[in-house]
Amino acid sequence: MRAVVYRGINDLRLETVPVPTTGDDELLVKVAVCGVCPTDIKKIHYGTVPPPRIFGHETAGTIVHVGKRINRKFRTGERVALHHHIPCLKCHFCRHRAFAQCETYKKTGITAGFEPAGGGYAEYVRVMNFVLPGVVKIPARNSFLEGAMLEPVNTILKAVNRLNLLRGDSVMVVGQGPIGLMFTRILRLRGMKVIASDLLESRLALARKLGARLAISANEVNFSARVKEVSHKGAGIDAAIIAVPSDSAVQQAQQLLRGGGQILLFAHTVRGKVSEVDFSGVCVDEKDFLGSYSADVELQEEVSRLVFSRKLDVRGLISHQFPLENTGDAVDLASHPTGDSLKIVVSVKKES
Ligand SMILES: [Zn+2]
Ligand SMILES: [Zn+2]
Repeated sequence: MRAVVYRGINDLRLETVPVPTTGDDELLVKVAVCGVCPTDIKKIHYGTVPPPRIFGHETAGTIVHVGKRINRKFRTGERVALHHHIPCLKCHFCRHRAFAQCETYKKTGITAGFEPAGGGYAEYVRVMNFVLPGVVKIPARNSFLEGAMLEPVNTILKAVNRLNLLRGDSVMVVGQGPIGLMFTRILRLRGMKVIASDLLESRLALARKLGARLAISANEVNFSARVKEVSHKGAGIDAAIIAVPSDSAVQQAQQLLRGGGQILLFAHTVRGKVSEVDFSGVCVDEKDFLGSYSADVELQEEVSRLVFSRKLDVRGLISHQFPLENTGDAVDLASHPTGDSLKIVVSVKKES
C-alpha cells in the first residue's frame, strides 16, 4: 500500500509499505481522510520523535477486516472515526484525571507500520484492541470529514472543561484558526461571551458568524480597552484561551484578566523556550495558569453528538483536501496559514 513515511526533519516520503497485519482482537481500517494536526507538524519540523514513522491521528475510514475475537460490536463495511490514545484509568495519573500523562495513554494504538504514530497518512491502518473503546461509528448522513474532526474537537472540549466558567462569562480566544474557531463555537454554545482575536480578517469574519460577541484584530490600537468592555463591569475577562504559540499573547491576557480568572495554554507545545511572567499576578491576583493537551476518551460520546448533530458544524472549517501523495504540501499549508486556509485534510481514497 502507499504511505507517507517520516524519514527525518521535514522529510516526508511517499513509499510502498506492507498492509499492516492484524490480530484476532484488532481491526483493519481503510483510511478515507486524515486531518493535519499541529502536534504532528511539530514532530515533523522539530524531529521530537525518531524516524521512521507514519503520522496522522485524525483518521476516518471504513472497516475492512474484523478480528475473529471481536464479536458483533464492529462489522466490515462500517464507516468509523478512530481514537488513538486510551488511558488505563487505574494508574496514579489517571486517578487524578491527568490522562495525557498516563503511560498506557502515551502508547499509540493505531499504526500503518513502524513505531505506532497514528498511521493516518497511509491507505490502511491497524487498530489495536486497547483503542477500540474510542472507535465511533459515523452516522449515514455524516461524512468521513466530519468523522475525522472528532479528535480535535475532543481536545477542545477537554480544555474547556478544565475552566471554571459560569454562564455569561467573558472568554477571550486568541487565534482563530480551525482550533480557535471551534473554541469560539463551543464556548458560545455554553452561553459564554466570546472575544475572538486573530490577525486575519477572514478568520475574524468567521468567528463573528460562529457567535463571537467581539471579533477583533490583535493589532487593533484600542485592543485592551475594547476587550475589557465586554467583561463584567469592565473588570477584566474571566478566562483566556491561548490557541497560538505566542508568549506575548499570554502576557497580554494576564493583563486583561480579572482577579481569580484563568489562562489556558493550548498551543505552547515546543519545549525549552523561557518567558518572563510577573508571578505576583498568579499569587496576589490569583490568576491561574492551566494547560490542556490531547483528548479524553470519556468525552467521546458528547463530542460525537456535538459534531454529528452539527450543533458544532465542522464542514465549513475544512478548507483544503490534499491527496495522499501531496501530504508534504498539506503540512506546509497548515504550518503557513493563508487568508483562505483553515483545517487541512489528507484524502487517501484512490481511484479503482
Ligand atoms: Zn490532532
Ligand atoms: Zn493510567
